[in-house]
Parts: sequence; C-alpha cells; structure tokens
Amino acid sequence: MKNMIDYFETQREVLSSRIVDLGNGSAFYKRLLRRTVKKIESGEQIDFAFYNEIPRTTKDDLKRNHPFGLLKADKSEIRGYFESSGTTDESIGSSKTSSLRTGKDLERDYIRRIPEWMTGVEKGDFAVIHLPYALTSSGVAFHDALSKLGIVPVALDQGHSFSSYTRVYDLLKTLEAKVLVCSNPLLLRDIILYEQKEDLFKLPSLQYILMVGTAFSEKSRKLIEERSGKKVGLFYGMSEFGAIGVPCSKGHVHIHPDFFIEILNPNNTEEHYSQSSLGGEMVLTDLKSEGTPFLKYRTGDAGRIYFEECGCEMSTPRIEVFGRLKDVIKDNDRLLFPTDFQDLLAGLEYTSPIHKLVAKGEEEILLELHIQQSTESKEELDIIEDRIKSLTNIPISIITYKFGELFEDIYNQGFYRTTQKVKTMSFHDERKGEWIITY
Ligand SMILES: [Zn+2]
Repeated sequence: MKNMIDYFETQREVLSSRIVDLGNGSAFYKRLLRRTVKKIESGEQIDFAFYNEIPRTTKDDLKRNHPFGLLKADKSEIRGYFESSGTTDESIGSSKTSSLRTGKDLERDYIRRIPEWMTGVEKGDFAVIHLPYALTSSGVAFHDALSKLGIVPVALDQGHSFSSYTRVYDLLKTLEAKVLVCSNPLLLRDIILYEQKEDLFKLPSLQYILMVGTAFSEKSRKLIEERSGKKVGLFYGMSEFGAIGVPCSKGHVHIHPDFFIEILNPNNTEEHYSQSSLGGEMVLTDLKSEGTPFLKYRTGDAGRIYFEECGCEMSTPRIEVFGRLKDVIKDNDRLLFPTDFQDLLAGLEYTSPIHKLVAKGEEEILLELHIQQSTESKEELDIIEDRIKSLTNIPISIITYKFGELFEDIYNQGFYRTTQKVKTMSFHDERKGEWIITY
C-alpha cells in the first residue's frame, strides 16, 4: 500500500460492518451512530470523506457512560477492568479512563503480546515482568499471555516496594530468565551498572527484551538491540486497548490488524493523504473488542504511520510513537518530541541515555545529562553539541551530573529501602539470639 487512501481501502469493508455492528450492539453507539448506520444500511458506501464525518468516542463519553455504557456484550461476559495511568492528571485518585474486556477481548490481547519470532522459549522457562500491575493492562496481560504458553511469568510489579531494580536483576540472573518485559531497559541497565557495576545486557541467559509503556524511536530500539545482542520487541499499548502496535520480525512496530489507525493533523489535506507517511496525533478504532469498543479515539500520543512495504510477515502499516502530544516542543514549523532528544544521546559510551529535559518556554531548553567523568565524555559532549545544532535552532543548555546524581533517589533506590524500613519501624529487635521459641 502506498498511502492512507490505500490503507483505508483495505479496511473499508471491515470498518463499515464494524460501525453497523456497534450501532446495533451497544447502547452508547446506538445513539452516537444512528444517522451513520442508517446511511450505510440504505446502501451508501463508506468512502474516506464519509468516514471522516463519523463522530468519535471521546474521553467525556467514557466518563459519562462509566462503566457499562459502551459494552457490546452481555455483562456476564466481562472478564477484565482496567484504567489508564492518567499521565495528564496528577491528582490522587482522580477518575481515569476506564475500560472493560470480555473473555474474547482478553484472548485477542494475549495473542497480540506474543511475537511469532520469539522462538526457543519453552515451557518452564522464566519471564521476568517489570511493569505496573495495578489497574493498567500491560503487566497483567503479558503475565497471563506468557502463562498460557507454559512460560513462568515472574510478577515484579513495577512501583511495588518488593520490586526494586536490584531484585529484578537478581531474579533475571538466578532464574536464568529468557525474557524480560519492561518499560525502559536502559534505565534498568543504568541502575544496575550504578549499583552493582554489572551489565544487564551481558546476562547470557536473557534472549528477549519486550518493551512497552515508554516511547522509543526506531533508532533507539535498534541501538538497544545492537548493544545488548538480544532480540528487542517494542510494543505500543494503552490500557484502553491493550497491545495496539506489535513488533515484527524485522524489529519494526506495526499496527495490529485488530485496529484501524489514523493520524490527526491540522495540515491533513487530500494531498497529504497521498503521502507515503503521515505524522500527527494517533487516532484509533478497535475493530473487534466488545467490552469497551472505541471509535476514532484520540490517543493524545504523537506518532507517524509509514505505508510502504516493510518486507516482513505483517501487511498493516508501520508506526512510530514519539511520545505524549502535550510534551511536544514547537520549533518554528517543526515539532520536537522526547524521542528526538533520546536520539541525541544514541550510541554514546560515556553519556547515559537516561536524561532530563527541562522546557523553559519554547525559547530555551535545558538538557541535564549523566556522564562518567573522563576525557572521552568531553569528546562526547562535542558530539552532542553538533547533533543539537542539526536538530534545532532553539538554544539548549547542557548541565552535566556525575553518574547516578541526576536522579539520585531513583538510582539509590531509596523508595524500596524506606518501604522495607517502614515494616520494622515500630519494633527494633536488638537481642542477640537468646530468645528461642520452644513449643
Ligand atoms: Zn515489519
């Protein structure tokens, strides 16, 4: 396929019957799609222009119809409830976007999460999962998907007090886990390098790293693969949908055929639609789910769709996710994304890829870096300066920190140590073993 119009053509029939199905199957969509369904049922063909006029599911719709309003199945078929992590709202306990899954929805998500190319992982092999489990869908879904194959999922609930980075590494090592599922292997590796002076990427038993939850450019993903020597699969997931973008055998991320993807961009015109790739806000329609089906849902994520052939086993378009749309920095008519800054640091030996970006308005950016003090790192700073010049004209000031000092509390894993202390804070046992329990 060459462009958006071609892609739409391949999905036209599926979309058309899905819309009729939704309009007849769920209370919410019955109202939303009444006119659309009438048009289709009276024989009108959905073309791209018609499709663009169809109303979308909004976050407000979800809130107003929480939790059952969008359900397109019997209540007895619900098997899952999830909430988005709500990165746009930081207040505690505020209502997030919620979604339901039927048993069939879950089964489809499990299939999407296991790449066909992940061979050689057998029953009884271990997979360490370092993702949040509470409310969001990725941790639990990878867990169940692997478990169904007989692979032993080890639940290292990211953010839980038992699941320090050190513990993740210990278990990867002692269980000789073949699979690591995490959101940012570079951060995990950095912290282990800092604390134990050992390189996670050198673990001989580890074969596959599956990543979800953090935006990585194709360049960065490839670099992780080269540096680690492991096969690295990048997923794009949202709690509202489960896994949406899945890694192909060539390492690219494709939209899974369970979904239809569009790009929302104020510049999208007929001419744009004929281009071989499109960038902007990613908009998703799920074509199969019954729990909480979404139609033309604005994800708030910025990305790009590529329509040209990848040459792999998948026939859907490739996607690249750049990060949250709200994190974008405007540079005249260009947009800079978190992944652009990730790429500035790609392939450097003495500068950590884990950095902090402080956007002070659109006129000034602060880039805070972790470096290992050495002459080589000074040379790398020159490389970074050069890369910045070819990226943007916005002045970027660099501040350097010693390794581990930029995010001191994270690298020292203080949270885990404190939480362990809380358990014993009201009872201090200073006896020297003279207290022996006898029965
Ligand atoms: Zn591919």
